[in-house]
Amino acid sequence: MVQPAKRSPANWDLEERWQILMDNVKDYAIFMLDADGRIATWNEGAERILGYTEDEILGREFCDIFTPEDIGRNQPEAELEGAKLRGRAEDERWHLRKDGSRFWAAGIVTALWDDAGKLRGYAKILRDITDRKLAQEKHLEESRRRDEFLAVMSHELRNPLAGIANAVEVLRRVPSAPDMVDVVARQTATLRRLVDDLLDITRITTGKVPLKRERVSVQDIVECAVADVSALVESSQHTLHVELSSETIVLDADAVRLRQVVDNLLTNAAKYSPPGSTIDLRAERVGNELLLTVRDNGIGISAELLPRIFDMFIQADRTLDRSQGGLGIGLTVTQRIVQMHGGSIEAKSAGVGRGSEFMIRLPVVPDVDGTMSTPVASTTSQKKVLKILVAEDNRDSAATIAILLGSLGHQVEIAHDGSEALKMAGEYQPDVILVDLGLPVLSGYDVAKRIRQQSALRKACLIAVTGYGSPEDVERSKKAGFDHHMVKPVPFAELEKLLAALG
Ligand code: ADP
Repeated sequence: MVQPAKRSPANWDLEERWQILMDNVKDYAIFMLDADGRIATWNEGAERILGYTEDEILGREFCDIFTPEDIGRNQPEAELEGAKLRGRAEDERWHLRKDGSRFWAAGIVTALWDDAGKLRGYAKILRDITDRKLAQEKHLEESRRRDEFLAVMSHELRNPLAGIANAVEVLRRVPSAPDMVDVVARQTATLRRLVDDLLDITRITTGKVPLKRERVSVQDIVECAVADVSALVESSQHTLHVELSSETIVLDADAVRLRQVVDNLLTNAAKYSPPGSTIDLRAERVGNELLLTVRDNGIGISAELLPRIFDMFIQADRTLDRSQGGLGIGLTVTQRIVQMHGGSIEAKSAGVGRGSEFMIRLPVVPDVDGTMSTPVASTTSQKKVLKILVAEDNRDSAATIAILLGSLGHQVEIAHDGSEALKMAGEYQPDVILVDLGLPVLSGYDVAKRIRQQSALRKACLIAVTGYGSPEDVERSKKAGFDHHMVKPVPFAELEKLLAALG
């Protein structure tokens, strides 16, 4: 059946077409101005976007929807002038709604002429694109912060590197120079912390770190963290007061990660306080929560920075003096870890120069059976000599680890690629094989798989050594047949402990 002719827009009269168009285009404000710049028509979209009804706005000045700043710069007149000269003017700017709020609009204004060449008025079409504008600004801010972060990171990496390079030079020229080993150890610890932070930033903030939860006592965690920062506290001549409630507070938590949290807060308190300051750490149970507070009387945090203090890459401005170091991610990671444990963290400061206070709240578990794991296991003294094969293509790393293992009394051989490692493993029959996963010729994974196929080597302990430490990396090395997975640079004390346990 043929549709009634009246339904087709082609058959609508001009008035009807105009009205239907104006009423239905709600995403765009479409309105006309007379030649003097007064608003002459107003569609539904304009009412929705700008908040004025037709009755309220008709006859008012075009400039009423502009911000005072733009009015001060004569923008409304310039826009109409531009349309008159070039036919149309396009722009993006903030506009004002009836309620005084602002929105970012993309607009176009067209001059309307009659056949006699007389200016009759203007047509303006605009759209609210605030969401897009805010997203763009967020993106820009993020990339600005990322660029700044990369600059800070290279700066931070250079500092410990310079320290190590200098110490090596000193040793070359004055082999008997005292304390150089301490310098290298300290700077290496800084480098390790920076690299750990870099890994954490992606893993923790994207939630890729599974928590290894167990019963842990707050007292143990605090004790370890205090030991971790003792050298920094001492070298800054700070006084650290620790106040722990006498009652054992037990948490269901990842001891390593919580220790990292307390480490971060104490390290910051020490870093951002002038020498000789006082730092207070207090842990108590309040209802079903642990309340852990770290307070310092240091440089404090400005009211402007405080609300953003847990954001990634945020640091107080210290363009000239960056000697405090850090990447501006410690507090982000700290907050994520606390949240992953179902807790919260809050920062307080009365302002610059007036100290800071960080408060952590974490749910407490009632200590039912009293069984808790202790974070630090003691090393046992064993003296079994192990035959160890080190498969590592970096000759310096291989040689130094071999010396260290030899100093423990073990027998050590070195292979520099995968196929040499396989061959030597068959001949040497080691008890332990340390395998760098990125070996040339045959990868560390392939070496492990082939060793696991040899019955003579079934009992050998295979340790993967790699720069990659995500749960997926650990799983992959386990699948290939490794017993342990260690991330470079392997803390030697940890390796020593592992070998002692094997012995
Ligand atoms: P980093 O210390 O590596 O810069 P953080 O994320 O740990 O990064 O801290 C972010 C910023 O917060 C620091 O750069 C510093 O400006 C400020 N801040 C953190 N803790 C304190 C504190 N205790 N006192 C003053 N400022 C602090």
